[in-house]
Amino acid sequence: AIFERIEAVEPKISAYITLLKEEALESARAADAAFARGEDLGDLHGVPIAIKDNMCTTGIPTTCASKMLENFKPPYDATVVTKLRAAGAVIVGKTNLDEFAMGSSTENSAFKVTRNPWNTDYVPGGSSGGSAASVSAGAAFASLGSDTGGSIRQPASLCGLVGLKPTYGRVSRYGLVAFASSLDQIGPFTKDVKDCAIMMNAIAGYDVKDGTAVEEATPDYKAALIDDVKGLRIGLPKEFFGEGISQEVKDAVYAAAKVYETLGATVEEVSVPNAGYALPIYYIIASSECSSNLARFDGVRYGFRAEEFEDFNDLFTKTRTQGFGEEVKRRIMLGTYALSSGYYDAYYNKAMKVRTLLKEDFDRAFASVDVLLTPTSPTVAFKIGEKTDNPLEMYMSDICTVPINIAGVPAMSLPCGFSDGLPIGMQLIGRHFDEKTILRAAYAFE
Ligand code: GLN
Repeated sequence: AIFERIEAVEPKISAYITLLKEEALESARAADAAFARGEDLGDLHGVPIAIKDNMCTTGIPTTCASKMLENFKPPYDATVVTKLRAAGAVIVGKTNLDEFAMGSSTENSAFKVTRNPWNTDYVPGGSSGGSAASVSAGAAFASLGSDTGGSIRQPASLCGLVGLKPTYGRVSRYGLVAFASSLDQIGPFTKDVKDCAIMMNAIAGYDVKDGTAVEEATPDYKAALIDDVKGLRIGLPKEFFGEGISQEVKDAVYAAAKVYETLGATVEEVSVPNAGYALPIYYIIASSECSSNLARFDGVRYGFRAEEFEDFNDLFTKTRTQGFGEEVKRRIMLGTYALSSGYYDAYYNKAMKVRTLLKEDFDRAFASVDVLLTPTSPTVAFKIGEKTDNPLEMYMSDICTVPINIAGVPAMSLPCGFSDGLPIGMQLIGRHFDEKTILRAAYAFE
């Protein structure tokens, strides 16, 4: 049934890079057999799930939507994939993204442009746009995305879904092709909050293969869904409602705050004074880390190799010139510049210092409230092609989401309204490792 649905909608939305019909049917049969044997099955047993194509899958292409990895088949599964398989999930395909997860619209893919299922003239958001569109169109029951600066939450917002970026360290990044290692985190896209809790139960937890995965006990996220927010303290950080946020988005989030008050929560204005620096800090740190992480794509070890070259330097230059798209090159050049001697202190080091200040802002805000409520994206979905010629305007899409990765705290986007037939999302931000309170607040609102 899911493949019938995929075949019906995929020509319109282009969510997938690779479909895995044979493998999926095989694991569905195995799930059926386990059911017939009367085995104790979990929540995800036999459930069709899509995976963003920057997470490794054994023997299955993992392209990062880049010419550089077009023919790359990893010899191992990412830990999240291993965990989903162990839970009995059926992996139906690998989804489209902005090349190496760099972008906010899924227009930077080397292969195809994904479209928003609510209106196919509009972008689904990015970089996990394929993962969002697949679930939104009913072409997967849930999916995984990665979020370095908003790539789960912003497409969730634009496609009317629930999307969670867990605390940095909560979910293993082993097998996720690195973009910016100190910011990257994997999380789920789902249609509702309960499904999000189910996905988190499957993927969260310590992993010896990821040096930054935290040895913190994983709670039962389903137990957080108590449908009660009495006494919960919600903060509205004023810096997230300023210039650049469209009026309909602000109105929808303020209306959600009113709903919380009627449910018995308290709402107060708070401040994250350094939030205005988040976008410049993010683009310095993310680009610096990407310039280092992507140095491995050199045409020697694996991936694309230019056909004709004279010597090693020529091989390296031609491979990277031909293998990477414009946006990836822009980030590599920015990052290389920010890290180079003479500029390191002025840019990278400075950004790291302001990063600490921003993290302290969040710590201070969480001393007086339990969760923060903000817009996710400054606007609803924009038209395909509208921002492709203006990278800075595209970067503005992340203004509300990047502060969260910089501080490492968890945050969820969930639907809170519509404007002109396009979904609006709101963002709930929690303390480090307190995804439970976010889930509780989201479940009560939904
Ligand atoms: N849109 C942001 C960027 O282009 C965030 C991407 C992400 O979270 N992977 O960097």
